[in-house]
Amino acid sequence: MFLGRFRGSLGKVRRAWLNPVMTGEKVSGLESERVAGILREDIMLGRRPPGARLVERDIAAELNVSRLPVRQAIWTLVSEGIVVQKPRSWARVREFSVKDIRDFAEVREAIETLVFVLATERHDDAGIARLREIVAREKAAAAVEDADGARTAAAQFHLAALALAGNDMLDELASILVTRLRWLFGQHDNLVESATEHEQIVESMAARDVDAIRVLLPKHLEGGREAAERRLRRLAGEGS
Ligand SMILES: [Zn+2]
Repeated sequence: MFLGRFRGSLGKVRRAWLNPVMTGEKVSGLESERVAGILREDIMLGRRPPGARLVERDIAAELNVSRLPVRQAIWTLVSEGIVVQKPRSWARVREFSVKDIRDFAEVREAIETLVFVLATERHDDAGIARLREIVAREKAAAAVEDADGARTAAAQFHLAALALAGNDMLDELASILVTRLRWLFGQHDNLVESATEHEQIVESMAARDVDAIRVLLPKHLEGGREAAERRLRRLAGEGS
């Protein structure tokens, strides 16, 4: 039972992953997936902040759907680790602690460094062209302070590297972590700096410079961790 549900949610995460903001596609399929997609993006983009209540009735009215798909969507987000549902209480957007961020950061560094090392070894010209195109979009968005656009491109950059790594096991691990990671670490404070670092990373990949990637990646991710901690403290400050 548990495993079945777990597998089901994994499939949803994987589909959710490239939907809808990241590809610009409309979510098709089940109503609950559509609702989960909307709520996920609201949470990602801070429109529903940590601690915010997710009230089925209100969300159903807001999105003009019945309560069942809303309930299912909330379960999906619980399984992705960004919503908590305690017995006899409202579901709420998860509030992460500094320890949560550090725990994630350790796991992320190991996985992402491996992703980029493999992608550096295995990429083809088309893959590098795609990464350069994404970075160009990220830079253009950062230059005009289009935070959503820059962050969406930044997330695409990491996903494109994952595709180039060509390792199904890494895909699977990433699908479990991606929603939380994107939320916690996707909110670069300094959009221009993030785009510049991505550019350095692509050029090292193009040169197949694995040693440079082993230095650049942890440094890049460390900046993300610091930004996530700053953001958490700021949110905690606002909440009090
Ligand atoms: Zn990045």
